[in-house]
Amino acid sequence: GATLVLHVRVAVLDAEHVLLIVEDRTDALRLEAVRRDFVVNTSHELKTPVGALSLLAETVEDAADDPETVRRFAGRMRTEAQRLAALVQEIIELSRLQSTDPSREPEHVLVADVVGEAVERSRTAAGARRIAIEAGPVPDAVVLGSHDLLVTAVRNLLDNAVAYSEPGTRVAVGTSVDVAAGTVEVAVVDQGIGIPAEAVPRLFERFYRVDPARSRDTGGTGLGLSIVKHVVADHGGEVSVWSQPGQGSTFTVRLPLADASATEGADR
Ligand code: ADP
Repeated sequence: GATLVLHVRVAVLDAEHVLLIVEDRTDALRLEAVRRDFVVNTSHELKTPVGALSLLAETVEDAADDPETVRRFAGRMRTEAQRLAALVQEIIELSRLQSTDPSREPEHVLVADVVGEAVERSRTAAGARRIAIEAGPVPDAVVLGSHDLLVTAVRNLLDNAVAYSEPGTRVAVGTSVDVAAGTVEVAVVDQGIGIPAEAVPRLFERFYRVDPARSRDTGGTGLGLSIVKHVVADHGGEVSVWSQPGQGSTFTVRLPLADASATEGADR
């Protein structure tokens, strides 16, 4: 159940008057707990690659006169270092998100630009895995917020779609506007491994991974979807997921349009 945390201070003013100061600390304490969890989880996640790196370094030292072993373990060290770099990068991104300045003026962002840029940036990773990204036509929708953050969100969805799909499959990006609802939807559809139903409710938690071993192979950090959720919520939108194990997943981001009239001249 919900607990209310109140801080009460009492000051006796004189024989007949006391001053009561009641402060609601519920939200502050909850935020503190979230922050504490984050620090604990983060330190744990950072320790894993760091531990692996020092073990690998020891092995390399011991095998100094065996060039083949040195080469193999140096390669694994590079993989761990890359994973560490990705993790640090996402942690920085997430903490930047959490400290966004609410007074910053939102920009008018063209959804077509966001989708175009995200697709462009994901192409390299997709190409390396022989996965084709197909972006459908993007209607002329405008949302209010941050272009860069929205690109990050869509890109994280695309990177996941690519990472959790087999070579030779396709990833599609579909965008549609619901004028009546005043929303625009961006859907990232893959034909990948899918997500078991029981994992779906936890997907957007920080550091959560359905299969840590597989996620480790893909260089995943478990932070991508929590960043997506954060960005989308900051824009007044929501993200939903449909998935069928073995068939694929669809992640849909729905955002409020900047101004319903912005879409009326769609074919300018
Ligand atoms: P990661 O960095 O591990 O990819 P995310 O937060 O982006 O972390 O995703 C959390 C977990 O959700 C992943 O580890 C993976 O198990 C699962 N997941 C995310 N996107 C997909 C997808 N398109 N298909 C299958 N599983 C996915």
